[in-house]
Amino acid sequence: MKSKKHLNFGSLRAELSLLFNHLPDNRQASKTNYSLHDCLMSGFACMYFQEPSLLQFQKELREKHNRDNLQTLFGVKDIPKYSQMGDSIDEVNSEEISPIFGNYFSRLQRGKYLLLHYQLFPELYLCSIDGTQYFSSENIKCSNCLTTKYSEGTISYSHKVMQAAIMHPGVRQVIPLMPEEIRNTDGNDKQDCEINAAKRLIPKIRKAHPQLGIIINGDSLLSKQPFIKNVLSAKMHYILVAKPGDHTYMMEWIDAYEPDEINRKSFTDKKKRIHEYEWVNDVPLNGGEDSINTNFFRYKIIAKLRNEGD
Ligand SMILES: [Zn+2]
Repeated sequence: MKSKKHLNFGSLRAELSLLFNHLPDNRQASKTNYSLHDCLMSGFACMYFQEPSLLQFQKELREKHNRDNLQTLFGVKDIPKYSQMGDSIDEVNSEEISPIFGNYFSRLQRGKYLLLHYQLFPELYLCSIDGTQYFSSENIKCSNCLTTKYSEGTISYSHKVMQAAIMHPGVRQVIPLMPEEIRNTDGNDKQDCEINAAKRLIPKIRKAHPQLGIIINGDSLLSKQPFIKNVLSAKMHYILVAKPGDHTYMMEWIDAYEPDEINRKSFTDKKKRIHEYEWVNDVPLNGGEDSINTNFFRYKIIAKLRNEGD
């Protein structure tokens, strides 16, 4: 597939440069020799090349070949020293970077790229959300760290986000949206958690994409009434995993159906495996008086053991 000009690397990099060049610079002038742009763009390059260590990446940049690459490909004028690179990146509020997600997304909408490659059902796109951890330490911490206490007395400090991405089962690349940080705030004793971050994320996705038809996809942690209500009030659909142990009331309700009251379809594939689809509409999610009703779908794959029936 020929890459469109507004989607090629140079054009996307230039847009990122523009954003980095206009970020408010809160660093103390006396302590910085490198532009914020060069620090952030070097950090981005490190991610782009999937180099696991920023320090190692910076060391390799001292070699001429790599230096040239960073200058021509990423528009970095002066290669920042490791310590200044890290400190400068830390000073930037991640919310300041968020416009780039919207910018890249509208580029994908231009020329119908998104529609042609990612539309799952007419005017509907699948948006998966899940928690991911990007920092963990037993020694280094800040006031926003999430803390986990272990029985042997150790405490680990971590940073996590809820990440949303538009995806399609037939396409390898996913389109990340702006993540929502799972972080503790000063003066709040209660820890932040994935489900709360997910609840904050939904209206933000809707605000960033007011017209987009969205199906939210997530794990069993999210298939609870408050989150589903949140998704529905943002006028989104949902496909969430329901673990039987987390949904005993709903499962008992479904088990009480007569076999012929459950919709069922199945087919046998070339390997003689049976794929069975079952679904029922309008079942109560829980035993609460105000329980919402939902649709339930179950898929089973039944493989015959070798030699069976011989
Ligand atoms: Zn921290």
